Amino acid sequence: MKKILLSLIGLLLFLQAGAQQYQNFKVSIYTRAYEVEKMKDSHWLDSTWRVISEQVQPDKIYLETHRDLLIVPDATLSKAIRFFKEKGLEIGGGITYTIDESNSFETFCYTNPEHRKKVQEIAEYTARYFDDFILDDFFFTSCKCSLCVEAKGDMSWTEYRLKLMTEAGKSLVLGPARKVNPGSLLGTTLAKLPELQYFQIPGQPSFRIQFRRMGRQRRFPYGHVPLCRTTLANLVCQSS
Ligand SMILES: [Zn+2]
Repeated sequence: MKKILLSLIGLLLFLQAGAQQYQNFKVSIYTRAYEVEKMKDSHWLDSTWRVISEQVQPDKIYLETHRDLLIVPDATLSKAIRFFKEKGLEIGGGITYTIDESNSFETFCYTNPEHRKKVQEIAEYTARYFDDFILDDFFFTSCKCSLCVEAKGDMSWTEYRLKLMTEAGKSLVLGPARKVNPGSLLGTTLAKLPELQYFQIPGQPSFRIQFRRMGRQRRFPYGHVPLCRTTLANLVCQSS
């Protein structure tokens, strides 16, 4: 499977087999909640879409609903979905389960009842809009709060976090999403880098609960073999 990743400012663009616009691959864009939230501004949305669509012809767009406690409001999400459907794109959702990405990737505490409630609400909110959605890389925990220390008991941190995150993935994300939308499919971008499966990510359960693999993805350093450069694009891709 060929895979290309193109990152604009906050936009990930990757390719999968199964062509529509292109013969040998399908182009999907992943947009962070920060950019989806900006889509309330019609001018920003129109001009950004123009820049992108002049250079590639996407088949699908994933609209992230949450990142860093920013939840994209209903009205903005609905507007964005309408806009891209009118452009003929398939629509999917996305969630990044971070509290504050800039604070060393601070994630939710999956032992804390308040955090767990928020995690579930985000999954349910997203499933209302999308039949499939991606969990971005950050579905893990490195929390060592007093609740986690107590709940861990005699287990090692690895044992505890794997158990905790596997349970959280099923009972806070997948289960509630499917109650709202029985057809919900989850994918994870964790699998985008083949090497990632060998990384020591605390409590990363993606493979254990068998999220749908969205295909491979590669990133390239900024300025590497640019295929296109625009006022928005500062990182461009190449085919793998
Ligand atoms: Zn904790």
